[in-house]
Amino acid sequence: MNYKTNGDAIEIFLEGPISEKTELFDVKIQNFKNIKLNLSKVTFINSIGVKNWISWTVRFSLGTKLVMEECPYVIVNQVNIVHGFVPKGTVIASFIAPFLCESCAFEMTMKLENDVHYKYAVNQLPHEVHLPDLTCTKCASPMEPDFMVEKIFSFLKEKAV
Ligand SMILES: [Zn+2]
Repeated sequence: MNYKTNGDAIEIFLEGPISEKTELFDVKIQNFKNIKLNLSKVTFINSIGVKNWISWTVRFSLGTKLVMEECPYVIVNQVNIVHGFVPKGTVIASFIAPFLCESCAFEMTMKLENDVHYKYAVNQLPHEVHLPDLTCTKCASPMEPDFMVEKIFSFLKEKAV
């Protein structure tokens, strides 16, 4: 893990598994109001990691904004299935989604981004999802999302800022 700070903002780059040993949980996080977390190198999260993660977010000071970038698919899953995994108002700026070719079973991942491929609900407007049209690099057939679209985007309904 490494991080840089700027006033009340901190940008953290996480690496490896999120478990009992993750250094992230040692950062004096209550000193920051804007937390940007890059998770591109996170490999997995175990149950102790989930527990530590939640107690870490509980230590945020009031009104702290968390932005999560390049979340691996496993982390987005946690956000969706573990109630309270991220504080209200957290933004998932991007995450890595798996796609599958139905003709030749070739698998690809693609980074999906907020305001490009999906949008949080704002005011009276519902959330939006615009999946990219991907073509299989092996056989040129269209690729399909290898996930339940409504399920993986459930996090979009959580936000209210
Ligand atoms: Zn194919």
